[in-house]
Amino acid sequence: SAGTTYEALSVETLPERLKDVAALASKVGADSATWQVQEVGDGNLNLVFIVTGPAGKAIVKQALPYVRLVGDSWPLPLYRAFYEYHALTRQAARDPGSVPEIFHFDETQALIVMEFLSPHLILRRKLIAGERVDGLADFLGKFCARTAFRGSELSMKSGDKKADVGLFAGNVDIPAITEALVFTDPYFIAEMNHHTEGLDPVVANLRSDVELKVKVQQALQRFVSNTETMVHGDLHSGSIMSTEDDSRVIDPEFAQYGPMGFDIGMLCANFLMAYFSQPAHRGDDLDVYQEWILGVIEEVCTSFEVEFRHLWATERTGILYPSSLFEDQGQDSAPACGAVLAGLWRDAWAFCGIEMHRRCLSLAHNADFEDIADPAVRAPLEARNLLMGAELIHKAERLANASAVCAIARGFNG
Ligand code: ADP
Ligand code: MG
Ligand code: MG
Ligand code: MG
Repeated sequence: SAGTTYEALSVETLPERLKDVAALASKVGADSATWQVQEVGDGNLNLVFIVTGPAGKAIVKQALPYVRLVGDSWPLPLYRAFYEYHALTRQAARDPGSVPEIFHFDETQALIVMEFLSPHLILRRKLIAGERVDGLADFLGKFCARTAFRGSELSMKSGDKKADVGLFAGNVDIPAITEALVFTDPYFIAEMNHHTEGLDPVVANLRSDVELKVKVQQALQRFVSNTETMVHGDLHSGSIMSTEDDSRVIDPEFAQYGPMGFDIGMLCANFLMAYFSQPAHRGDDLDVYQEWILGVIEEVCTSFEVEFRHLWATERTGILYPSSLFEDQGQDSAPACGAVLAGLWRDAWAFCGIEMHRRCLSLAHNADFEDIADPAVRAPLEARNLLMGAELIHKAERLANASAVCAIARGFNG
């Protein structure tokens, strides 16, 4: 075993400490003296090692007892690895092939040994580089629909669902980051906030918009108190790894039971931010590539709807909308599905707008904008993003579909 008390791994200590983990040795080779270890964590929170041996490669991800981005002044519980592990096993069951294969979990060491995805790269980097990924939208729409539907009482037995909500209710401090950084900090002068110079007037407008802040608080209330399904909780383009034509979802340590529209809303926000940042990253092919991104958003949402309706028709095995109330009485339940979806999209567009705000205003900004070195170039693009975020929050209840959202984006793009 890797030890009976937690200790952070290092490139130097990993082979000796993990040499007896059979699941790792069987992937990379039995002789730990031959292992090469590289630390590649580029995230905000954890250590991620690639272990290379004569037989292959594997990933070792280990939680640190603090926020990596900030340092040991901000402690963060190791138990997030436990929730990441349990979320990964559920996502693998609810959407097979969507996440890396898990080889080993050590709760004491807060570490997960998993499949090394290769030649997959972080989607956010690909979007900044102007690359396309075939099948991306269909994969992501299905992932969101399958995990939303199959983790809810539309599908699960009541007892199983309640037990799972109970399990994930222990993940307190990680979702608390979302409650603060995503839903709250953007709308006041919070300690860890920062924003690009030149945005002050736009930011002041957001903070003086009482109606907007009420809508954001209503969204936060749904996020914290509505346990519809197990959400990934951090589904941005940095939590997706892709090749030219294959994609996977990683990093679900923020998993909790929450609203069915949360993941797809956050996901669309990250595509919209990729869209608004493109003028600083592209040359001749700017228009074409921006339209490709909007096409992805539309297709993600269509694929989500189609899959959700398919699961509704074929897998409605939970207590909600039972066939005894509809089909068994010769009645169509498709309109009921439409009503569920309408509520889900209302939530999703509000979450989308809020995510667009927090990435420019609170602690963890995204590389799409952050990689734009010149603040005079960055500020107007971020301003478009902030204004569109506000419009989505205000209009969340009235947006017909993703096409309407993309039309608004084109309007702000100038
Ligand atoms: P954090 O929780 O700290 O954000 P992530 O799980 O997002 O950590 O991983 C950080 C980085 O490590 C990713 O951006 C990616 O580059 C790399 N990585 C993580 N998991 C894998 C994997 N299964 N295969 C290949 N690379 C990975
Ligand atoms: Mg990450
Ligand atoms: Mg696949
Ligand atoms: Mg993470």
